[in-house]
Amino acid sequence: MFVDQVNVYIKAGDGGNGLVAYRREKYVPKGGPAGGDGGNGGDVVFEVDEGLNTLMDFRYNRHFKAKRGENGMSKNQHGKNANPLIVPVPPGTTVTDIDTNEIIADLTHHKQQAIIAHGGRGGRGNSRFATPRNTAPEFAENGEPGQERNIKVELKLIADVGLVGFPSVGKSTFISVASAAKPKIAAYHFTTLSPNLGVVDTDDHRSFVMADLPGLIEGAHAGVGLGHQFLRHIERTRVIVHIIDMASTEGRDPYEDYQKINLELKEYDEKLMDRPQIIAANKMDMPYAEENLQHFKEKLTDDFPVYPISALTKEGLREILFAIADALDKVPKKMMPEISETEEEVVYRYQRPQAAFHITRDDDGAFVLSGDKIEKLFKMTDFNRDEAVQRFSRQLRGMGVDDALRKRGAKDGDTVRLLDYEFEFIE
Ligand code: GDP
Ligand code: MG
Repeated sequence: MFVDQVNVYIKAGDGGNGLVAYRREKYVPKGGPAGGDGGNGGDVVFEVDEGLNTLMDFRYNRHFKAKRGENGMSKNQHGKNANPLIVPVPPGTTVTDIDTNEIIADLTHHKQQAIIAHGGRGGRGNSRFATPRNTAPEFAENGEPGQERNIKVELKLIADVGLVGFPSVGKSTFISVASAAKPKIAAYHFTTLSPNLGVVDTDDHRSFVMADLPGLIEGAHAGVGLGHQFLRHIERTRVIVHIIDMASTEGRDPYEDYQKINLELKEYDEKLMDRPQIIAANKMDMPYAEENLQHFKEKLTDDFPVYPISALTKEGLREILFAIADALDKVPKKMMPEISETEEEVVYRYQRPQAAFHITRDDDGAFVLSGDKIEKLFKMTDFNRDEAVQRFSRQLRGMGVDDALRKRGAKDGDTVRLLDYEFEFIE
């Protein structure tokens, strides 16, 4: 099984800020509060697009940010919610949070969606804080910050295209000039001869996975050498590209090579002959290659197209890659990639509930507050407004921060830090 993986940073949109505003009424200097709520920030959503089969797009773009919600407006008008950022992924994509190892999503079927990072809630406008005791609150809430995550995106690759051919006909060279990315091959159990895998990106941006499966030699179908294991991979590919050394570099006849390899495939499984096969007549830059190609075509009775190429000079490369992509477009994809020979389980880890805050000491003796919940409250507070600051300190007291500080030995006048904010502890 081949696994491609890419690490990506995502950030959902922050909520828009709530507004402090008042109604304007005739003859009333300051009407009731009328500041609207901010809109919600956009989620980052992954959505399966069955037309994709690689993580190619993630190689060009590793940062995804959704938009923030609009700020609240006067006359109690809501700011607009931001649209989610939809990121298309191929079926079979799994997403893991790198920091917690939590599996966030396992996306399998077309159009399936998963929220990978949640947008922040819009901050409430001042009219939402009106009470009988405070009818004209002079503060509003800032938007909640959108979720930020470092994630690992993984895809178990099934090779769409299998390369076959005798040793030294140019399979490795072909894959190296054709591929835009070389995914890391994980957990491959034949360590001595590992398949060479490439993600091909054609000029018209179709991408597919091509595997060079070495070791297909005479007798492979009978289990000689490692050929047998590679034949199993060929079985799963949708298109076979048969590479032939047209220059007869090692003295063999190109047409005999062609017959021998196909005989191997056929002995292993008759059905492999029904698979679309594209013949790559390689090493056309060499002397006599042209002549050999003519003879080859005269003898060829199968109905497979022949593309003359040179993996060395890249001549004919573009054309054959288009032909491969066209052939793939015509072959329906198998229902789903077979996940693995050894059954795999998704592990949902227990998430320890997080403490609302932590207290530590800085070198200068200051008390430092940290923690998701308290930092979120901090970010949602507009420190330019006294009433907002007062509300913040009430919220801290409610969370038990004052008591906890006292227990840690905080005295009147000591410094307390929270992110980039500093205040005095007052008894
Ligand atoms: P593989 O065993 O099928 O993977 O073959 P390789 O890709 O390792 O190539 C075997 C040899 O053929 C290497 O020395 C390559 O440089 C050479 N070769 C591959 N493609 C071409 C080509 O198009 N023209 C020429 N002249 N040599 C080639
Ligand atoms: Mg090779």
